[in-house]
Amino acid sequence: MLRARRILLVEDERDIAELVALHLADLCDEVVIANDGHEGMRLATTGDWALLVLDLRLPGPDGLEICRAVRRDRPYQPILMLTSKSSELDRILGLETGADDYLTKPFSVLELAARARAILRRVEQLQAAARDNGVGKPAIDAGPVTIDPSRREVTLNGESVELTAREFDLLEHLASHPGRVFRRADLLDQVWGYGHEGYEHTVNSHINRLRAKIEADPSHPEIIVTVWGVGYKFSGQAA
Ligand code: CA
Repeated sequence: MLRARRILLVEDERDIAELVALHLADLCDEVVIANDGHEGMRLATTGDWALLVLDLRLPGPDGLEICRAVRRDRPYQPILMLTSKSSELDRILGLETGADDYLTKPFSVLELAARARAILRRVEQLQAAARDNGVGKPAIDAGPVTIDPSRREVTLNGESVELTAREFDLLEHLASHPGRVFRRADLLDQVWGYGHEGYEHTVNSHINRLRAKIEADPSHPEIIVTVWGVGYKFSGQAA
C-alpha cells in the first residue's frame, strides 16, 4: 500500500507557518499545520508522518516535550526542530533530544526546505536498504504463520495480516530464530537498532500489538511466548 507522504508542521506563528508550509508542499503530498503544542502533540503522536517540523516555543507542550513523546514510540521518526535563539539551540543540543536536524530563527525558508529534503532522502535510502535486505530471503513457515521477507507479507492460516513496519521486523526477527530466547534489550538493539534509547516497555507494547494480530488467544500466547524473567521466544508451534 502506498501511503500519502505527509509533513506535520507545529508552529504557533501563523505567518511563519504558512510560509514554511508553502515551501514544504513541494516535498510531500500534504502539509498539516498545528498552531499550538496541544494540537501538535496529539497529531504528532497519533498520525503517520514523513517528517515532523517542530518549533521549540509553543503554547502548551513545547517542541522538546513533543519530540520526547514521539521518540518513546517512534525512534526513527524524522524530526526537524526550529528554535528562536542560538542559545536555545545549545541548550536543546545538550539535552540530546534526538531531533535529526535543527534550524535557528530567523532562517531562510529555502534552507529549511533543503534540510527537510535531505532528511527525507536519507530516510528513503534507509527504507530502500531495509527492503533490499529482504530480497531473496526464503519465506518462514511456522505453523499457522507464514512470513515472506521479500514481500514483507504475513499470513495467518492463509489470511493476510496487516502489520506495521516495526511489528513485521520484530516478528521476522523472532521467527528467524525459533526457540531462541531474546531479552528485551537484545530486541531493542537488533530490531530497533543502534542508537535507540532503550525503553524496554516499547518492546512489550509492540509484542502485545503483534499478539493481538496473530495469536488465537492473545492472553494465552502460543506463537510468541513470554519466558518469565528473561524475555520472549518464537514458538510457532500452536498447541
Ligand atoms: Ca513559537
